[in-house]
Amino acid sequence: MALRTSAQYKEGLCDGRTVFYRGEKVKDVYGHPDLAPAVDHSALCYDIHDLNPDLAVEVVDGEPTSYFWVPPTSPDALKRRGELIEDVSRRGGGTIVLKEVGSDALFALLRATKGEGRENAERYVAKVRSEDLALCVGQTDVKGDRSLGPSQQTDPDLYLRVVAEDADSITVRGAKTHTSFSANADEILVLPTRAMGPDDAAYAVSFAIPIDTPGLSLYVSPFSAGERNAFEHPLSSRHKLLESLTVFDDVRVPKDRVFLNGDTTLAGPLALAFVDYHRFTAINYKLPLLDQLVGAAMLVAEANGISKAGHVKTKITEMIIWAETVRGLADLAAVRATEGENGVWRPDSLYVNMAKYHFAHGFSEASQHLIDLAGGILITGPGGEDWAVP
Ligand SMILES: Cc1cc2nc3c(=O)[nH]c(=O)nc-3n(C[C@H](O)[C@H](O)[C@H](O)COP(=O)(O)OP(=O)(O)OC[C@H]3O[C@@H](n4cnc5c(N)ncnc54)[C@H](O)[C@@H]3O)c2cc1C
Repeated sequence: MALRTSAQYKEGLCDGRTVFYRGEKVKDVYGHPDLAPAVDHSALCYDIHDLNPDLAVEVVDGEPTSYFWVPPTSPDALKRRGELIEDVSRRGGGTIVLKEVGSDALFALLRATKGEGRENAERYVAKVRSEDLALCVGQTDVKGDRSLGPSQQTDPDLYLRVVAEDADSITVRGAKTHTSFSANADEILVLPTRAMGPDDAAYAVSFAIPIDTPGLSLYVSPFSAGERNAFEHPLSSRHKLLESLTVFDDVRVPKDRVFLNGDTTLAGPLALAFVDYHRFTAINYKLPLLDQLVGAAMLVAEANGISKAGHVKTKITEMIIWAETVRGLADLAAVRATEGENGVWRPDSLYVNMAKYHFAHGFSEASQHLIDLAGGILITGPGGEDWAVP
């Protein structure tokens, strides 16, 4: 099997995973009303095989394969990846869906691991591709005092670390934080979060394990939870991301699932290789959101009869220039891609970072323009239930 359906993806989540939400243990993630929208949202990265096969499916070794799992080998390949990310995000309400983040991490493994870790990484990439798995990425540690490195902290568990090792396995303890998709993924791929010094060997660790591995517990954030009315929240009532505090309480990891164990010189390059791809992902999945802001501004101006006013045209023009500049920089990051280690191509980091910067700096002003053009109705109007009464 190289392509799964969204139904197969959802079935795969029914296992013995340990997920907590608002103080309670969740038996079935998809059966929970607050969490189900996140599963449906992520299922789009399987539905996209049928919705847009030209972009989303590629034949690899004679088998139809998700294009997310195909390592980029040219600028055109990165351009296609950007288009796929933008397309799936547009269908997903303007945000990331799921497979983007896991594939970003796989490409980083292919570039920045060595020796046995690299052999394990190659086998793992092939497994993910052929089983079409849903991966989340645990990179960010809880970190404690940011001015100190991992081994300098008073509490040794503020960065994830190896606490024991035998011939077949390592045992890890600590926590990753802000882990997106964890409760609705099949596996978690762990990466180091920063460059490390010679004393940090126990913290220089990377591996992948199934979410239902004993000792792994996910504490899902309640952010933006609760009943969401589709009239008042047309996107966030249907599209949701889950993030968790992801706790490793002496979790045993088989050695063939370990990509980095103790080589501190590889921690920084691995962390940064992930960032190369993830920043490219981030700017491409943002593009539909920018289009939504521009489109909403144009529609509300038309509805209010102010489209021809000079200040309105200026505001909408500024919004279009902002959105299209981000799009242009995203394209340029693919066009100017270069060959990275082991033949895996990387987007140009200057243009990727310029795109991210330009997006972030323009976002408040674009939102401000939209709010200004809309007037007070967004805040003061009747609710969805009122409009539903004839
Ligand atoms: C919605 C969302 C989803 C995410 N998904 C994932 C995910 O799937 N997987 C994952 O691994 N991570 C994920 N992240 C984590 C994200 O990458 C981090 O939030 C980011 O790296 C910042 O880390 P932090 O939150 O610990 O903030 P910090 O690093 O603590 O930053 C807070 C402030 O402290 C400053 N600071 C930090 N360290 C220093 C220092 N040494 N010296 C001076 N100033 C410093 C920073 O510049 C910043 O101003 C997600 C985050 C969000 C918000």
